[in-house]
This record gives sequence, C-alpha cells and structure tokens, in this order.
Amino acid sequence: MKIKQYRTQFIQELSPFYDAYEAESFFYLILENKHKLRQIDLALNHELSFTEDDFMVWDSLLEELKKEVPIQYLLGKTSFYGLDFEVNENVLIPRPETEELVEWIIKENKIFDKTKKLKILDIGTGSGCIAVSLAKNLPNADVFAMDVSKKAIETAKKNAINNNVRVTFMYKNVLELELLKYEYDIIVSNPPYVRNLEKEEIKKNVLDYEPHLALFVDDNDALVFYRKIAALAQKSLLEKGQLYFEINQYLGKEMVDLLEKMNFKNIHLRKDIYDNDRMMKVNI
Ligand code: GLN
Repeated sequence: MKIKQYRTQFIQELSPFYDAYEAESFFYLILENKHKLRQIDLALNHELSFTEDDFMVWDSLLEELKKEVPIQYLLGKTSFYGLDFEVNENVLIPRPETEELVEWIIKENKIFDKTKKLKILDIGTGSGCIAVSLAKNLPNADVFAMDVSKKAIETAKKNAINNNVRVTFMYKNVLELELLKYEYDIIVSNPPYVRNLEKEEIKKNVLDYEPHLALFVDDNDALVFYRKIAALAQKSLLEKGQLYFEINQYLGKEMVDLLEKMNFKNIHLRKDIYDNDRMMKVNI
C-alpha cells in the first residue's frame, strides 16, 4: 500500500481516540522515527510505499495508540530544549513548561558561566532533561542530579552520555536528607506536585502510563518537596545562590508564602505559555 493511502486509514482508525490533527502528528512522528521520512518527502513522492514488515510495525503501534499509550514511550524518545532524550515508563515525559524553566535558568546564568564554574544541582531529575540541557547550554558548569528512582537514574545517565555532557548522578531520596553533600550556585527542582483532587484534570495517557511517583503528592502536604528542598538550599546555596522550581499552577500563592516565611529574598513567580503560575526563582 502507498504510504499516502495508509495515512488516511491511520487517522481514521484513531478517530475515536484522537482528533485528526493529533493523529496526523503521530503519523508523521512515526514516519520520521521509523523510516527517516519527513512530511515533505511524502509530498514530493506520492508513490512511496510500505513493505509487509513495515505494516506489522505500524499496526502494533496503532494498537498501542488506541490504548492511549503516549507516543513518546512508543518511540522510546522525545525532544526537549532541542536535544533528544530517551524516555520510558520509569520517567516522566519532559513537558514544554519545563523547557521554559530551563530557558529562564540558561538566560540568567549564561553570563556567569563565562567567568566561573557554576555548580548546579537538579533534584528529582527523572529523564535528566533539566540537568542535561543545563549542562549542554552552560558548558562550564559542574552539574549534579539526584533521583529516588534507580531506573530513572539509569535512563538519565544514558541521556547525558548520548548528549555528550558530564553529569554526576546521585541515587537518593531528598526527603530523607538533612544536608546536601556539596554547596551549589543553583539548585533546581521539578518535584511531584499533582494532588489527588486534581486527578480528574489529568488525561488518561498521563494517568495510566506515566510514573505516579514522579507526578503525585499527598493532598494534605502538597508542598512537602518544596519545603524540604528549600530548607536544604538554605544550608547549601553559595553566596548569591539561586533556587528554581517548577510548581503546581494552583499553588503559586502558597509557594510565595512558604518561601517568604523561610526568609528567601527576591521571590519571583512566573507564568508559563498557558498563562498558569508555573515557575519560581528565589535567592538566599
Ligand atoms: N506538569 C505535569 C503534569 O501536569 C506534572 C509534573 C510534576 O508533577 N512535576 O502532568
């Protein structure tokens, strides 16, 4: 069958689950990943066709997509801040909001990276997307990353190697730490922050397949990670050190209150592209 024809069938079969735009974008993502063909190649050559073996692969992907398995897990990769990252069920799929956080950190620290060796720690690194993209874009920095999941660290390590950066990984539960091992110029974290009461807002593809360990926090103590990390940062940030967080969009005010009470200075709360409170930066 011609690829062009199959495209129509693919979108049709996914129509009970995804709108045509989403289904079409999946189609082209798979085409690019599995066949190294882009939309333009198909437009220029209407005769391109699939083999029997190709169809087997496409049909099995189609079945998984009908179960709403995230396309990034099916392809085993995604892109974040212009870099390729391996992803699997042990790590959260990097989000565009987190790219905005990374961009903020890079913009503010590019200049310091030229004159000193910034020491950076990413807490709850998951796929390593924050640590790796910071290491890549702040090339003089010494980057460290921590996670409670051994499997996440394995994935993050591969992502550092594949992107040619050096990151030191630590397998630790931040909630059990009293003190960090080193002192840092920058501490950053995108910890779990979704409350159970927000569960109905979470789509099936996220809820059924992404690691709950990375997503959910106890409703009664939704800021537990932030409080702990902020307390550790107070003891371990160097002079002029900065603490950056990705936060729950509904807890911006609570976060500001928490950090004010802890005597942090220059408290900045930022919105993401969807106009939700999403990021914070503070100084000690
Ligand atoms: N923003 C993610 C989501 O809504 C959650 C990320 C996190 O818990 N740190 O799926």
